[in-house]
Amino acid sequence: MFAEPAWDRDAGGAPDPAPRPAPRPRPAPAPAPAPGPRRLRALLRRLEASGRCDRDGDGDGDRDGGSSSGSEHEAATRPRPRPRARAPSCREQQPEPKPEQEQEQEPEPEPRLSRQQWRNRQKNKRRQKNKFKAPGEAQPDPDPESHPEQEQERVSGRAAALRARMEARLEAARFRYLNQQLQAGSSRQAARLLQRDPEAFALYHRGFARQAARWPEQPAQRVVRYLRRRPASLVVADLGCGDCQVARGVRNTVHSFDLVALQPGVTVCDMAEVPLGDASVDVAVFCLSLMGTNLQEILEEANRLLRPGGTLLVAEVASRFLDVRTFVSAVTQLGFKIVSKDLANNFFYFFEFSKTGRPHAGATLPGLRLRPCLYKKR
Ligand code: SAH
Repeated sequence: MFAEPAWDRDAGGAPDPAPRPAPRPRPAPAPAPAPGPRRLRALLRRLEASGRCDRDGDGDGDRDGGSSSGSEHEAATRPRPRPRARAPSCREQQPEPKPEQEQEQEPEPEPRLSRQQWRNRQKNKRRQKNKFKAPGEAQPDPDPESHPEQEQERVSGRAAALRARMEARLEAARFRYLNQQLQAGSSRQAARLLQRDPEAFALYHRGFARQAARWPEQPAQRVVRYLRRRPASLVVADLGCGDCQVARGVRNTVHSFDLVALQPGVTVCDMAEVPLGDASVDVAVFCLSLMGTNLQEILEEANRLLRPGGTLLVAEVASRFLDVRTFVSAVTQLGFKIVSKDLANNFFYFFEFSKTGRPHAGATLPGLRLRPCLYKKR
């Protein structure tokens, strides 16, 4: 854009800001009467004089670079070269404007831009180019097609991640649904539901494990710690054992019961009817497993299994308790006394009871009722 200005040597070395037009054909001279010797000499003198001034010989006078050349508009918009001191040429003394018709026939030269105008034009071009790019893609891979495998990997990686996220969300939703089903009916209904559909049970446990992984503390580990502080000779019944964290965490003899066996060594049964003799265990554990609506029946079964003075451990989701006091009071009606409770944790409550005797006959215990786990609507 900013080409060096051409130097018009013929016009005394001054820069020529305008493009040089092609030489114009001279109009044919009008026929003159034959000159006599005096007139001929005079003519020769005139010719010599004009030859000294009109060095280019065409005599057209349009090359002087002065204000008479080019259109007025062009002269106004074109940046003016710094004026150089030079001797005025003859042409400047005798300006000879071009005929109008000739000026029109000349090809319109591209207007020269000032530095600022040129910068603005470049800026606009860049803006136009970036207009259709997504935000954040201001500097994309200059040539993604030059790495087709990487591009393919990137796309399929993103698709796989998206699919995994969707599957996880779907599973989480099914887990919540199943959990609500298990807590809304009796333990017998839960047994029928899960034993008829082992896939539902596997899904339930995958969802459970995923949730548990986000908890600050695993209640089953708390049970393990408790048992480790007690003699290893105590016989334990883990009712609703899941993946048997308790049995795997202690040296005690642990009888593990669940609706479906996730691990070898699990006895499949409904915890309301456990295939063990009366007073056969020292510790009965319900870790997040008081799910059915028939809790009285389930806790009476635990009382049957425990030897006198045996321990009942309950760990449950805190938000399920309507009123802890009425819950504890109802449990004591079933032949237990409270030894300790831990309500400090925001997520889970822990209770330790010991067996005092047989359940009080005929008692109806509304205080035993626990809320089903409620999940926020998504
Ligand atoms: N105690 C384990 C698992 C808790 S999940 C742990 O803390 O990791 C609750 C478990 O109770 C599930 O495995 C579920 O199948 C089991 N469960 C629910 N109702 C049951 C019933 N009526 N009889 C036996 N197990 C039951």
